[in-house]
Amino acid sequence: MDFALSDTERDLRDWVRTFVRRELVPLEPEVLRRERRGERGLRPEELRALRQTAREAGFWGLQTPSEYGGMGLGAVLTALVEIELGRTFVPFSFGGAADNILFACNEDQEQRYLLPTIAGERVSCFALTEPGAGSDAKAIRTTARRDGDEWVIDGEKTFITNGNEADFAMVFAVTDRAKGADGGVTCFLVDRDLGWKSELIATMGEWGPASLVFDGVRVPARNVLGEVGGGFALAMRWIGRGRYLLPARALGACERLVEMAMEHARTRHTFGTPIADRQAIQWMIADSAVEIEALRWLVLHAAWQVDSGLDSRHAQSMAKLYGGVKANEIVDRVLQIHGGMGYTRELPVERWYRELRLLRIYEGTDEIQRRTIARNLLRGYASVSGVLG
Ligand SMILES: Cc1cc2nc3c(=O)[nH]c(=O)nc-3n(C[C@H](O)[C@H](O)[C@H](O)COP(=O)(O)OP(=O)(O)OC[C@H]3O[C@@H](n4cnc5c(N)ncnc54)[C@H](O)[C@@H]3O)c2cc1C
Repeated sequence: MDFALSDTERDLRDWVRTFVRRELVPLEPEVLRRERRGERGLRPEELRALRQTAREAGFWGLQTPSEYGGMGLGAVLTALVEIELGRTFVPFSFGGAADNILFACNEDQEQRYLLPTIAGERVSCFALTEPGAGSDAKAIRTTARRDGDEWVIDGEKTFITNGNEADFAMVFAVTDRAKGADGGVTCFLVDRDLGWKSELIATMGEWGPASLVFDGVRVPARNVLGEVGGGFALAMRWIGRGRYLLPARALGACERLVEMAMEHARTRHTFGTPIADRQAIQWMIADSAVEIEALRWLVLHAAWQVDSGLDSRHAQSMAKLYGGVKANEIVDRVLQIHGGMGYTRELPVERWYRELRLLRIYEGTDEIQRRTIARNLLRGYASVSGVLG
């Protein structure tokens, strides 16, 4: 059993670590100031410039296959990158990425959707959730009706990330009610100028998803992504693309937060001694460190299963569940250690507190992950002895 990083893994991790320290962390005070004023933390031109700097060092399209100009990184390498990016709240991601399901585009769609998305010229959004269908995604009611060479889409989507910024949406609609999710849902590539409307939803986080309305939107038949009836499988592929990635970012945030808590605990004195000398504070730090370590191995183990071609769904659900629950407990402890200062907007702790809360909800709530894990165990698909048997 070898837990060491290879030279490639260490080099890549170290490059991103340095990039975060040199390029992103110095932006943090300004990002906080802007967000307090209700503005975006990073301006589009700043994001472009940062992505260009990274690109010049070869960091472009982390998981985009090399034939599309990307790095084609595996899951473990990508997780290592995400952990480092998580160490800052500056809203950065490397350029050159596209939703995994866009690689199902045919040649004509590649030119219109996939390639411009990789190039950063077009922005996509993934539109599955509806007011009446979140965890129970099979209950979607948006319909698409064939009319000659077009499909006519009617319905409403909600909580769609990038829904207010995107210029095209990957929309999942029922095309055969009798078949439902089993062959009766289709994915459409729908340009904004075909007539759908979006409205921002204010959330406790710094960025808001949107609700989308499709009122008789006519979409050319050539905009079906994949096969008619193959939409639900595509949706599950998008959601399952990397449940290890969200907890990986949260893990980086937890590392940084606990470092901040330790720094504060060493320098803050009460009753004549640093609070770091108090057992109450030490236990919070110790528990957080143990949980961070456990999360690291859950994340990397799930990523290793992906790279090994194993069925990683059980491991990914465990990483997502544990990451969401523990990151929230850890940020709460870190806020507590900072006392009143932790509650202010002078420090980023409350910002992380609000942001990390989302991890327990999107891309499968805690309860849905538990349901998956318990089902796998009870039906004998997975064992409590883990992969070692
Ligand atoms: C900021 C944000 C961004 C998002 N981005 C996107 C996006 O880009 N695209 C997209 O399609 N969706 C997106 N979503 C939607 C997200 O995936 C859903 O909110 C999530 O799946 C939960 O669905 P719901 O909100 O309808 O809650 P519900 O499904 O109504 O669940 C409500 C509660 O009941 C629990 N529950 C539900 N079923 C069960 C069960 N069987 N057993 C036990 N408990 C259960 C849930 O865990 C939850 O606690 C986003 C959501 C948010 C908040």
